[in-house]
Amino acid sequence: MSSSRVLVLNSGSSSVKYQLLDMSDSSRLAMGLVERIGEETSRLKHTPLTGGGAERERTGPIADHEAALKAVADELAADGLGLDSPELAAIGHRVVHGGKHFTEPTVIDDAVLAEIERLIPVAPLHNPANLTGIRTAQALRPDLPQVAVFDTAFHTTMPEAAARYAIDVSTADEHRVRRYGFHGTSHAYVSRATAKLLGKAPEDVNVIVLHLGNGASASAVRGGRCVDTSMGLTPLEGLVMGTRSGDLDPAVIFHLARVGGLSIDEIDTLLNKKSGLVGLCGDNDMREIRRRIDEGDSSALLAFDIYIHRLKKYIGAYYAVLGRVDAIAFTAGVGENAAPVREAAVAGLEELGLAVDGGLNAVRSDEPRLISPEYARVKVAVVPTDEELEIATQTYALAGKNS
Ligand code: ADP
Repeated sequence: MSSSRVLVLNSGSSSVKYQLLDMSDSSRLAMGLVERIGEETSRLKHTPLTGGGAERERTGPIADHEAALKAVADELAADGLGLDSPELAAIGHRVVHGGKHFTEPTVIDDAVLAEIERLIPVAPLHNPANLTGIRTAQALRPDLPQVAVFDTAFHTTMPEAAARYAIDVSTADEHRVRRYGFHGTSHAYVSRATAKLLGKAPEDVNVIVLHLGNGASASAVRGGRCVDTSMGLTPLEGLVMGTRSGDLDPAVIFHLARVGGLSIDEIDTLLNKKSGLVGLCGDNDMREIRRRIDEGDSSALLAFDIYIHRLKKYIGAYYAVLGRVDAIAFTAGVGENAAPVREAAVAGLEELGLAVDGGLNAVRSDEPRLISPEYARVKVAVVPTDEELEIATQTYALAGKNS
């Protein structure tokens, strides 16, 4: 029997997102989410995408990741897509931090697990959850190849000039402090899809990718290789995000500790969870912020303006880094849906060859599309990201063919 199915797992500290894909035609067979693992009110939402079955939801305690994955396996089995099927070729895992070491998707063995574990100090929130997901999946199907696809891998091509902070080199090296970047799977997928939209090979185009979700990052991609990105040691650096501050003077932290009396953990929570759009105006959903602006709310407008100001600064910076830009691509929840953000981010940049066509920008679609006018020297694109498909593609390319 041919094995062409790939299960993609994205394991967070209290959640697991999953998709089952058939790589013979890149179709999606099922997808879902387990939330609030370890609580009384855990919830599993499962959506079959073949056979016309309806979405199913169940609530009630799911104790740990092992129980979560077993529950997922039961749901898939109920659709005739059981994980014990010989058609399952491999499992692909999103792993947030691969450090400098992992430049490519990697078949997981004990040495790979040990390296992901060694990186926990630089990714204390993410890598432990990713490891738990991998170990649980291995226990379920020990015979199957499991592949780690790293959020950082696409950014490992950054030159040292972009990857290093200007701090004492030996201290930085001792503690592995450097700019790693995240959302790499999305930046890789979207930069390639943008080249395709332009009818060119990735090697022939320079693209600025703006991944604007709840987390947000920009990248400068020259000829298919990342040369700079806005997130750094952690996902806190760079753009204004839903709940993260993005760039700030590091001395703000000393000030808050010395003068404000906040602990390091309090500052960490403040900057990662209570800042960005939510800190500025109380909302992190761009739809709600736009609605409030339409009603004349000044704090929502200021939050929007700060968000756009930062975005524009990164467009300008990456324009300078690349020298020549062929396209700017907007992606993720905000980038794909919020026309006012796209319009405002590019407004006033005509001298740089950038413009947005109001009519094209207003069109809603799930397809990659151009929203710049015909005459624009630099194309502006909206390219829906698909991290799961990219993880499945990379997993299948590495581990699927021979199984
Ligand atoms: P995550 O980083 O959690 O993967 P997403 O890429 O799904 O985030 O983006 C989620 C964000 O996208 C929401 O917080 C919201 O701000 C924004 N968003 C989603 N749909 C729309 C929409 N129709 N209009 C404007 N913003 C939207």
